[in-house]
Amino acid sequence: MEAQRSSSSLIILHNATIVTVDSDSRVFRNGGMAIEHDKIKAIGQSGDILAEFSGTAGEIVDLRGQILLPGFINTHVHTSQQLARGIADDVDLMTWLHHRIWPYEASMTEEDSYISTLLCGVELIHSGVTCFAEAGGQHVPGMARAVELLGLRACLAQSIMDSGDGLPEPWANRTAEDCIQLQKELYRKHHDTADGRIRVWLGIRQIMNSTDDLLLKTRDTARELATVIHMHVAEIPYENQLIVKTRKVEHGTVTHLEKMEFLQNNLLAAHTVWVDNAEIDFLSRAGVKVSHCPAAAMRMLGFAPIREMLDASICVSLGTDGAPSNNRMSIVDEMYVASLINKGREVYANGTTDPTALPAETVLKMATINGAKSVLWDKEIGSLVVGKKADLVVINPRTWSMVPLHDSISSLVYCMRTENIVSVMCNGRWIMKDKKISTVNVEEILSLAKEASTQLLKRAGIRIPNRMNMV
Ligand SMILES: [Zn+2]
Repeated sequence: MEAQRSSSSLIILHNATIVTVDSDSRVFRNGGMAIEHDKIKAIGQSGDILAEFSGTAGEIVDLRGQILLPGFINTHVHTSQQLARGIADDVDLMTWLHHRIWPYEASMTEEDSYISTLLCGVELIHSGVTCFAEAGGQHVPGMARAVELLGLRACLAQSIMDSGDGLPEPWANRTAEDCIQLQKELYRKHHDTADGRIRVWLGIRQIMNSTDDLLLKTRDTARELATVIHMHVAEIPYENQLIVKTRKVEHGTVTHLEKMEFLQNNLLAAHTVWVDNAEIDFLSRAGVKVSHCPAAAMRMLGFAPIREMLDASICVSLGTDGAPSNNRMSIVDEMYVASLINKGREVYANGTTDPTALPAETVLKMATINGAKSVLWDKEIGSLVVGKKADLVVINPRTWSMVPLHDSISSLVYCMRTENIVSVMCNGRWIMKDKKISTVNVEEILSLAKEASTQLLKRAGIRIPNRMNMV
């Protein structure tokens, strides 16, 4: 990236292919953009932007041959679980949850959460993410400290549970009221901090660990604070079966949530794999947003009815889930996997699949503007439009993985690798330039993470069987 600089805060990016993902899906073949402070001031043909703004610009960046995209939005990621990468591979779901993840999360300190979020953030930035929604983890203050430093935008939530079998000690005695008070305090301290980059949401880990009292209090508190609820919904058939049995409804989680008027347009439902047509209709009518996490779904949940949800006009976005469910925290990989598995799910009578299902334009929207709508931030992010925040990524397609390039949109979804992302700007500030993250010391984070993870597993008493034939 070549840049000329002076003391003005105005930045010009020119000579780029700009994929705006705006309401007309405009792509500028030789586009330019002017950025002032944290916002996009102008966007148009490169020559026009240069003519109007180059006299007052502080930095002029020539992006010849490169592609500009809105920053990706990862709508379901467990930043707390980054230090748990590799601790629960190839194990069944109950071992995964009760013997690996719960003991791990229950043993975390705030410092662990801070380091875990830093490590996760490094991977998110490299994959072009500028905004993420925390799925609900441990120690929001630790997450917030890391996000502030990383320069990312984030919606943070605490993992919240007030019931259920086998809960570890620190969470076992929390009442619904304790859960609400804890989150109100987090909201008061951290909401709208870090130059407006951090928002605090309410969390519900999942229905099997929530009383109806907690669900109702959460719904009402979200309304009172005008914030969003993040919840894992209908992940496995057993969840639906248990809800039918214990809450006396005819289908499962979504039917129960509909009956208690919990479904609202400020609910971000993660996974949402095991839903029937009536439940898709409930979600659609309420304006609930869905975070589709294709890699994690393939690993342990099943095929979510994404085409049906999109046909019902539900806003579906993309998430990576956590490191122990996926290992790769790259939204670039998720775009590729989402396109493949949703084509593969549409099997014709003759056994072939449907290559027209979930086309590249749809997948790209899921990672950008639908992500912004899912986190209720689309007035300011999700597309490259004048007046919105300058959250963007620069892609170098001149590599063996992307050449030749005939159609930018399909190449971005089917060919692009994380390694093609060279620079990332969030809130008008470069947080990665030429693949070097400028906000934190990555080498230091790697050392801290290795040490913290080892100590944490020891404290939690988690032993990973050694499957290597070490000689
Ligand atoms: Zn999750």
